[in-house]
Amino acid sequence: DCLFCKMVSGDIKPDLLHADEHLLVIRDINPQAPFHALVIPREHIATLNDLQPEHAELVGRMYLAAAAVAQAQGHASDGYRTVMNCNRLAGQTVFHIHLHVLAGRAMHWPPG
Ligand code: 5GP
Ligand code: ZN
Repeated sequence: DCLFCKMVSGDIKPDLLHADEHLLVIRDINPQAPFHALVIPREHIATLNDLQPEHAELVGRMYLAAAAVAQAQGHASDGYRTVMNCNRLAGQTVFHIHLHVLAGRAMHWPPG
């Protein structure tokens, strides 16, 4: 019972920005910036620690999708932040990897 697997299967209908055979891009339900999307692979991979060498192309596709949605939403030239949280100290709450795409405000560095 993984939340993002339910979105992949269609049991839960997210606010979808893009879908293809490899991944979904959805709006985050609790946005942390004026624009906040999540790039979610269709394959269930619990954390970054569970990535295998055969996932290298998929992870590349996740970043291509992040850049494409930032471009489509008009944030490419001003800039945006991509983040993948891993486990407790990073604050991961959904254990199916996802790339956050945050835009529309200045981001802090170092990150909180
Ligand atoms: P994490 O904390 O694991 O890096 O990120 C999980 C993200 O999923 C959070 O930003 C949270 O707001 C988002 N999220 C949790 N439940 C839902 C949901 O039901 N729908 C959508 N669209 N986003 C969700
Ligand atoms: Zn899953």
